[in-house]
Amino acid sequence: MGTESQTDGWGFETRAVHVGQEPDPATGAVVPPLSLSTTFAQSEVGVHRGYEYARSGNPTRHALETCVASLEGARHGLAFASGLAAEDNVLRLLRPGQRILLGNDAYGGTFRLISKVFGPVGYPWTAVDLTDVAALEREWPADTAMVWLETPTNPLLTCVDIAAVADVAHRHGALVVVDNTFATPFLQQPLAHGADIVVHSSTKYLGGHSDVVGGFAATNDDGVAERLRFTQNAAGAVPAPFDCYLVLRGVKTLALRMERHCANARAIVDLLVGHRAVSHVLYPLLPDHPGHAAAVRQMNDFGGMVSFRLTGGEQAALTVVTRTTLFTLAESLGAVESLIEHPGRMTHASVAGSQLEVPADLVRLSVGVESSADLVADLAQALDSLA
Ligand code: PLP
Repeated sequence: MGTESQTDGWGFETRAVHVGQEPDPATGAVVPPLSLSTTFAQSEVGVHRGYEYARSGNPTRHALETCVASLEGARHGLAFASGLAAEDNVLRLLRPGQRILLGNDAYGGTFRLISKVFGPVGYPWTAVDLTDVAALEREWPADTAMVWLETPTNPLLTCVDIAAVADVAHRHGALVVVDNTFATPFLQQPLAHGADIVVHSSTKYLGGHSDVVGGFAATNDDGVAERLRFTQNAAGAVPAPFDCYLVLRGVKTLALRMERHCANARAIVDLLVGHRAVSHVLYPLLPDHPGHAAAVRQMNDFGGMVSFRLTGGEQAALTVVTRTTLFTLAESLGAVESLIEHPGRMTHASVAGSQLEVPADLVRLSVGVESSADLVADLAQALDSLA
């Protein structure tokens, strides 16, 4: 809807609702139709209306790709069957022998993909502390071609200064990839801070309702986009049209949901700070949090994820996750309902024994959009019940 120059001037919320989503010219349908066709008619050989075969592109996916690219401030957006499929596609930009520098506090599945799938077939990798930019510059491995960073990280919520890392990486000719799953483009737009590629698990906040698995990659680099699009089609890890429809529906309310997630997270942090059962609260708003200054610089707010450690150790962590009622004990994050989990034994079990191992007394919350008073009361009774 609107010309490109018009949409460029629109605010985030307007773009979330309208970009890529003009009324259907054939019927006037206001919601982009779910286009299930796997193939598209050609009037002559090679003459078609932009679509040939649905793996290469289909109208529902195109609507999603156009909208989320706009939200990330990107010229190009590509949707995938999962966040890890998007990551796999991006990592295939590399050739064997080119090193990946990975933050030492990353999602376990990303670490598993790099260390267990790409590593053994010739892609060297190193896990480093990306908050220490001076050390990054000093110890930069000469064969590095890609820096992979999350900010805030999963599950410790450490924030990395995207512009500072991009400055070092670009001086050495490396690409910078930012996993923006936790912040979402509503809170942070990594391309504007110098990142080359943004990736998402759209399973999380973009979808927002725990009912679709998906992934996304966005970039302003035409050459990178062309290679990503080639692999998207050649390797074929594309999302089904219905999944694209669900993510696009979720994106329309992303701004509203994120505002509520952030407000509720602050209420939860207020409860946790100073509670006798809690030894550490991990949330980028807190002035002593690693990367707080970077978060203030590059984020509009601090997000809906909160982690904390228990004074009672692992056993207390394992107990508290079973004592909440509104916070459901489950993996994943970023949806309307609140979730609680034990990263060490659940989402991050795949990094046990590695440099990325997480503390055993850690609990991670995905704070939903329910009434904040109900959420605070639920967590308070669970914490108070610990002896
Ligand atoms: N990146 C982050 C930060 C995640 O938390 C996850 C999944 O939890 C992924 C990527 C992988 O996404 P998916 O589960 O959609 O493959």
